[in-house]
Amino acid sequence: MARVALVTGGSRGIGEAISKRLKADGYEVAATYAGNDEKAKAFTDATGIKTYKWNVADYDASKNGLAKVEEELGPIDVVVANAGITRDAPFHKMTPEQWKEVVDTNLTGVFNTIHPVWPGMRERKFGRVIVISSINGQKGQFGQTNYAATKAGDLGIVKSLAQEGARYGITANAVCPGYIATEMVMAVPEKVREAIIGQIPVGRLGEPEEIARCVAFLASDEASFITGSTISANGGQYFV
Ligand code: NDP
Repeated sequence: MARVALVTGGSRGIGEAISKRLKADGYEVAATYAGNDEKAKAFTDATGIKTYKWNVADYDASKNGLAKVEEELGPIDVVVANAGITRDAPFHKMTPEQWKEVVDTNLTGVFNTIHPVWPGMRERKFGRVIVISSINGQKGQFGQTNYAATKAGDLGIVKSLAQEGARYGITANAVCPGYIATEMVMAVPEKVREAIIGQIPVGRLGEPEEIARCVAFLASDEASFITGSTISANGGQYFV
């Protein structure tokens, strides 16, 4: 039977590439999204991948949504916590609302996504937990105190889960993308984008599919001895 993979924020951007790649690899895939119904419908029409709508920042909504996915597709074997947002501002101008919204989505949202499926993974003695962090969680970033804090926190989550999951056949790893050509990055003014590309040694933005490949590897049986690790996919922009 096909393994079941759940990708939060799986209907567009990097998540879309991950959902498609996992489907191509033979997984039964469920992709979640927050509110963009039009994009989610177009994604399902094009790929045949089922979408589910809930806010990852809401624990009960996540728990109920994940239970529905398991009811319809079977127990979740692979969970990819990908949904994330930015609310940028220099620290002196950052509002408590901007701080809270990013923490609720990018950090608490990761807890809310993994926590409800963790007991089942422990019982079945198999699981793959993959969190999409960021280069800016590794190095910090001007104007992203909130975002960098959550993405660094996500690395703490996988390192801890790696230790707790090891004896139950569960691995937990992170992928830290550098700048990837998604709507978010393509929307910045061309001059700014050129400046960003100037800082990337390979001289280009990454493609969502290049992140999806990292996820596919970590989800696979090939990666059975890799846990608590971080794959940096950033075109040489930052070494840890
Ligand atoms: P996008 O903005 O393109 O897509 C975000 C996805 O997450 C959408 O499907 C969106 O749903 C969903 N989402 C957002 N907030 C919530 C929420 N509260 N509850 C449920 N779903 C939510 O993001 P990217 O593809 O650019 O980024 C994906 C991940 O990769 C993020 O965690 C991001 O931080 C990380 N990353 C991205 C980089 C980049 O260069 N793009 C670089 C490094 C890391 P909807 O469509 O309904 O809005």
